[in-house]
Amino acid sequence: LNLHKAEFVRSAVKTADFPQDPLPQIVFAGKSNVGKSSTINRLLNRKNFARVGNEPGKTIHINFFRIDEKVYFVDLPGYGYAKVSKKERDRWGRLMDEYFASEDTMTLGFQIVDIRHKPTADDVTMANWFLQTGMPFAIIANKHDKIKKSQLEGSLQTIRETLHLPEEIPVIPFSAEKGTGRDEVLALILDHISN
Ligand code: GDP
Repeated sequence: LNLHKAEFVRSAVKTADFPQDPLPQIVFAGKSNVGKSSTINRLLNRKNFARVGNEPGKTIHINFFRIDEKVYFVDLPGYGYAKVSKKERDRWGRLMDEYFASEDTMTLGFQIVDIRHKPTADDVTMANWFLQTGMPFAIIANKHDKIKKSQLEGSLQTIRETLHLPEEIPVIPFSAEKGTGRDEVLALILDHISN
């Protein structure tokens, strides 16, 4: 997979905007500010491809990136930002419902959480959405550079327990800042698109 051949395709706000071709879709979800854009940029080794530091909660759309004409990276709208109105929250829910209804093209899901903190109630809800689809799924535990080595095991355990993850779901320590975990995430992606 040539990661240098990455292009922004579109921002979707409704089902009709979703790509209609059968390319596999790798889905990224996470709380606002968890580092979702930074993670996508790190995977692609780009600086400002997915926009970092978007005003949280203001971006209720799904961004589709096409990589090497072979696969989509799907950037779901961030959640859990306190200051959004009920109307925006409802819009988020509708858009997610619509996307998750298109299960056949969802190939692999990643949920990005902050390795420093116990996952929130919203994180638990999000993980359940993924688990219920039955599609392959992994957790990216981002901001690994912010914890001490001695905290790693405990952090991973807290994430696993709080999200009620079945044993086979990987929790990958990751740092969008330093590149930690990048190879592991890319290997998982390659595993799921080369068939
Ligand atoms: P998004 O809202 O989830 O897309 O989050 P962003 O990618 O915009 O990142 C939010 C903030 O976290 C930014 O200030 C990033 O520089 C910072 N950040 C993202 N990933 C990491 C990481 O791995 N380590 C550290 N230390 N900071 C990070």
